[in-house]
Amino acid sequence: MLAQHALGVRMPITDPALLKIVESRILNKKVCRRCGALNPPEAEKCRRCRSRNLRPKRKRIGVKK
Ligand SMILES: [Zn+2]
Repeated sequence: MLAQHALGVRMPITDPALLKIVESRILNKKVCRRCGALNPPEAEKCRRCRSRNLRPKRKRIGVKK
């Protein structure tokens, strides 16, 4: 995905622990249920359609918080 770009690294990430961190950062976003746009995790409204119908985009990486 955009893992490398997120960290500004060009090399492929092979370290599972690091990859996990990167994934958690990427997945820590909010997705608009209306238009599907990605918003910052702190966003309360969609930056595209201004809908408040956002859901956190979080896959279950781990149970721990
Ligand atoms: Zn939207």
